Amino acid sequence: MTAIRVVGGGPAGSAAAIAALGRGAAVQIVEKSRSPHHKVCGEFVAAETCSVLEELGAWDEFRSRKPARMERCRLRFGSRVKEWKLGEPAFGLSRLELDSLLLNRAAALGATVVRGDLHQPPVSATILATGRHAVAQKGNRLFAFKSHFEGPAGDAVEVFFDRSGYVGVSPVENGVTNVCGIFPENILGRYGFCFDDVLYSSASLRERLQPLSRRMAWLTTGPLVFSGEERENSAEVYAAGDSLGFIDPFTGSGILNALLTGKMAGAAAADGLAPHAYRMACRRLLRRPFEVAAVFRAIVRWGFAEYLAPFVPGQWLYRLTRV
Ligand SMILES: Cc1cc2nc3c(=O)[nH]c(=O)nc-3n(C[C@H](O)[C@H](O)[C@H](O)COP(=O)(O)OP(=O)(O)OC[C@H]3O[C@@H](n4cnc5c(N)ncnc54)[C@H](O)[C@@H]3O)c2cc1C
Repeated sequence: MTAIRVVGGGPAGSAAAIAALGRGAAVQIVEKSRSPHHKVCGEFVAAETCSVLEELGAWDEFRSRKPARMERCRLRFGSRVKEWKLGEPAFGLSRLELDSLLLNRAAALGATVVRGDLHQPPVSATILATGRHAVAQKGNRLFAFKSHFEGPAGDAVEVFFDRSGYVGVSPVENGVTNVCGIFPENILGRYGFCFDDVLYSSASLRERLQPLSRRMAWLTTGPLVFSGEERENSAEVYAAGDSLGFIDPFTGSGILNALLTGKMAGAAAADGLAPHAYRMACRRLLRRPFEVAAVFRAIVRWGFAEYLAPFVPGQWLYRLTRV
């Protein structure tokens, strides 16, 4: 029996474990954190994710956690608002719930889950699903922050862009609203890293958040580095999710990519497919969304988005930034 170690128990790691178990492998998941916890994430679950959750046998459990449902997408570029109805509804579920339900599913199928102890003996195949690299960087680094708010919940995923960064506002379970932003450190530094002040410095965000009140402390992460669809990793491992490549979060497709590449990594490791062949398949899958996200990001940074927004169909942009 092939013995597989999955390092990292996020969406990519759990999906990899479930796929490998389904092919008869013995799986151990090694997760750094000792207990489930909140993560910095917009917690937007794209409609395309549902079929992958179904394939992983996690759809019913996902539904039972009562994720918020989103019918519309609204992008704001300065004074310009672009809004459209999503082709299929998307969902909002906190990462605390999503990551736990996926890891529980892998454990229920027979994976051994080791939390906290990272020193484990070698096994035949290793899947790397440890998320983004913490990259030491010079210059104006990007940081992200997230919290949950209470108050009237919407039915749209909203993203407020300005040239330096952006803030997502979208519902999750239990009528809670997720607020998650990404800005360079010079902007955050201007407000003494007080994220409330960063948000309330924008008139449109002030208006949007006015009926809401924050119900947990801000969580923060960074620096963020958007990598290509294939990050430099050891040739011997099957890297999945953010360990393979980190896409700009405004796309709301990171969780989808993590589940898809995790599933592929688990199947490849269990079938003995060479890591190189697995990486080629991932590259084919992810190239377009990564390229489109990079171009869109540059357009926002150069300040053209406000002028181009009326001419770009929202559905088209949405579709091109996901597999
Ligand atoms: C600000 C922000 C907002 C985002 N918003 C969205 C969104 O709205 N929708 C969306 O689809 N995507 C979003 N994303 C992207 C999404 O969060 C990631 O793509 C997704 O979490 C990737 O899953 P993963 O399993 O690869 O990594 P992770 O979720 O990071 O999981 C990695 C796991 O590995 C563990 N780990 C780390 N190091 C080790 C180690 N050495 N040994 C063992 N375990 C280890 C960690 O504890 C963690 O549990 C966002 C990302 C950011 C930064």
